[in-house]
Amino acid sequence: MTIPALELNDGHSIPQLGYGVFKVPADETERAVSQALEIGYRHIDTAAIYGNEEGVGAAIAASGIPRDELFITTKLWNDRHHGDEPNAAIAESLEKLGLENVDLYLVHWPTPAKDDYVHAFAKLIELRDAGLTRSIGVSNFLVPHLERVVAETGVTPAVNQIELHPAYQQRDVVDWATEHGIRIESWGPLGQGKYDLFGTPAIAEAAAAHDVTPAQAVLRWHLQKGFIVFPKSVRAERLRENLDVFGFELTDAEMAKIDALDPLDGSGRVGSHPDDVN
Ligand code: NAD
Repeated sequence: MTIPALELNDGHSIPQLGYGVFKVPADETERAVSQALEIGYRHIDTAAIYGNEEGVGAAIAASGIPRDELFITTKLWNDRHHGDEPNAAIAESLEKLGLENVDLYLVHWPTPAKDDYVHAFAKLIELRDAGLTRSIGVSNFLVPHLERVVAETGVTPAVNQIELHPAYQQRDVVDWATEHGIRIESWGPLGQGKYDLFGTPAIAEAAAAHDVTPAQAVLRWHLQKGFIVFPKSVRAERLRENLDVFGFELTDAEMAKIDALDPLDGSGRVGSHPDDVN
């Protein structure tokens, strides 16, 4: 199974499909990540706030997979944007992961009421230059946040990881990011199971036409849009299913029908609004 890689704006590349471990309990993470690595995943998305970086690290160490074949992302939590806290935070994450560096380090949320996300991103530039992370990016940033980090630091994040699924496509953020060479990572790519995505006719019909599951049709839609995805499951059969999305292609008409599922008034959002997280 070859997972396609996308090039980032800093010249590094990222596997377009990975495995996210949000809400995987700390004591189950080593087993879950080991299982994902065995099945063929090479890109793992974690975060300091998930509390499971040790488990990710234990699975990496046990796997014997060469470090340069893995792509590991972790994230700076909201209460550590100020001063030199990002330096301490990445050191703690690396210690837990048992790694000398990560492939991608993200500012997890902009926390706009605190107005310290530009500083946090500027610190990430230093961490990248010090070799502690290869690439740097942001998460949950809206257009005004992206505009400020680019204008005030002179560096364009490599990715913006945002809530994105058929009912919530954030086209303004995607368009701005795409124009500026920022890759989009879709979090909650399956809508976190919070609405009946799989029963939606556009999804169910596309799945039936290609003899795949609705989850596979949705993941295929993300991939064909050029988004990076890392769906979460702890079940081996679903991990296999979610990786098996490179043997079919949705037609333009099928893509357009899924594109049209966003009510466009923001009502399809299943997670927090970035302006409300501080
Ligand atoms: P998701 O959309 O991946 O949904 C996960 C749910 O879908 C789980 O309940 C799982 O049981 C179910 N599922 C998975 N595969 C399935 C399949 N083949 N068939 C049927 N159901 C299936 O949501 P998520 O886990 O929130 O998002 C993926 C990753 O994104 C996370 O693990 C995390 O790494 C990242 N994330 C980032 C942020 C952020 O703020 N940056 C927020 C949430 C998630």
